[in-house]
Amino acid sequence: MAADVLSVAGLQVTVYERMPTAARKFLMAGRGGLNLTHSEPLDVFVTRYREARDIILPMIEQFSPTDLRVWCESLGQETYVGSSGRVFPRSMKASPVLRSWLARLRGQGVIVHYGWTWAGWRGDDLAFLDSGGKSQNVAADAVLLALGGASWPRLGADGSWQKILTDKGVSVSALRPSNCGFVVPWSPMFREKFAGQPLKTISLTIQGDSFQGEAIITRQGIEGGVVYAASALLRAEIERNGKAHIKIDLRPDVSLEQLRQRMQRPKGKDSLSNHLRKAGGLSPVAIGLVQEILHQKKGVDPAQLVKALPLTLTSTTGLERAISSAGGVSFSEVNQGLMLVNLPGVFVAGEMLDWEAPTGGYLLQATFSTAVRAAKGILSFLDAGSRI
Ligand SMILES: Cc1cc2nc3c(=O)[nH]c(=O)nc-3n(C[C@H](O)[C@H](O)[C@H](O)COP(=O)(O)OP(=O)(O)OC[C@H]3O[C@@H](n4cnc5c(N)ncnc54)[C@H](O)[C@@H]3O)c2cc1C
Repeated sequence: MAADVLSVAGLQVTVYERMPTAARKFLMAGRGGLNLTHSEPLDVFVTRYREARDIILPMIEQFSPTDLRVWCESLGQETYVGSSGRVFPRSMKASPVLRSWLARLRGQGVIVHYGWTWAGWRGDDLAFLDSGGKSQNVAADAVLLALGGASWPRLGADGSWQKILTDKGVSVSALRPSNCGFVVPWSPMFREKFAGQPLKTISLTIQGDSFQGEAIITRQGIEGGVVYAASALLRAEIERNGKAHIKIDLRPDVSLEQLRQRMQRPKGKDSLSNHLRKAGGLSPVAIGLVQEILHQKKGVDPAQLVKALPLTLTSTTGLERAISSAGGVSFSEVNQGLMLVNLPGVFVAGEMLDWEAPTGGYLLQATFSTAVRAAKGILSFLDAGSRI
């Protein structure tokens, strides 16, 4: 995105990408339909960035969700607003967007070197290992680091830039999983029977904050939209106390009173699981979950469990399969144009910066908005006649 803005402004831009092809994580995001951004009002939109809200706001105002849709449509990819308010390209794919985008960049004179890994600086020059494993030095008037976070490292972004920048005195908050799964020590029987199954329309509560959506039981624990939405709070609680206690409401559409009434009906010869299915309206996996907890807490009212099922999460499932990372270069290290104050001429954008947000299009939006901001920062820096 920064290369787009800068090449339109007439600059000669060269992109160095360590992988053999471009934008692998963007393509992976396309597998889920490529949720580009969200259509909710901007004042609500920016609350998704939590502590980074006030810093991100002017960047989202400068390159807004509407601007992102216009940009996507300028690449020949119409967008639409889904029923949840999320915005997608009509094709629901990243590859057509990427193909037109790369063609446009080529037309604007942008050169891309694939298989080149940035390894820091050698004197004033950038140091690379090229696709043949040879060291290369590159001089540039300005540099944008857009190396991503550290989730799904096999797609290219592995966070190895952290050491290079901290060695230069840049303050970096450690990269941690965000929008990730969490470990729950399931019994072997529950794990074998229910791993992979969805818990549809549940509510998850952590310390008074509730999130609605779907979760998926995994072999290690639990993941899915509702867990991702709560992931920042869950991770913080585990960092503080070694575990996070949550409550799951398996029937948020029914009150405890209504459920109790339904479940007080005599169950006759029905087993508890049949009774939970018929009177409680629960799916097999939800019934399995109630029974999993009943084994540990005998004598508890099953209706109470359906409405507030206690689970203990013991850790995240790690960065390997997290959708994004929290942490990164602290905003105190960059100026308004996203230039590192202690490394003039070096700019930072995207997930490398210290913000996090839930899924819903907020990740790509902030990535694009920070890239536009950094590109504008580079233009003012070069206009001012500075050279690194
Ligand atoms: C499974 C999945 C689904 C997702 N779905 C969505 C979604 O629907 N909507 C949404 O908003 N977000 C989604 N995201 C998140 C979104 O893709 C990221 O937030 C976004 O790609 C971050 O962009 P970035 O440019 O900062 O980093 P990246 O996209 O990770 O790009 C960084 C690039 O830098 C390269 N690189 C890293 N180190 C070096 C080096 N030393 N030298 C040279 N090159 C290097 C990497 O190879 C990579 O190509 C999803 C992520 C995943 C994993």
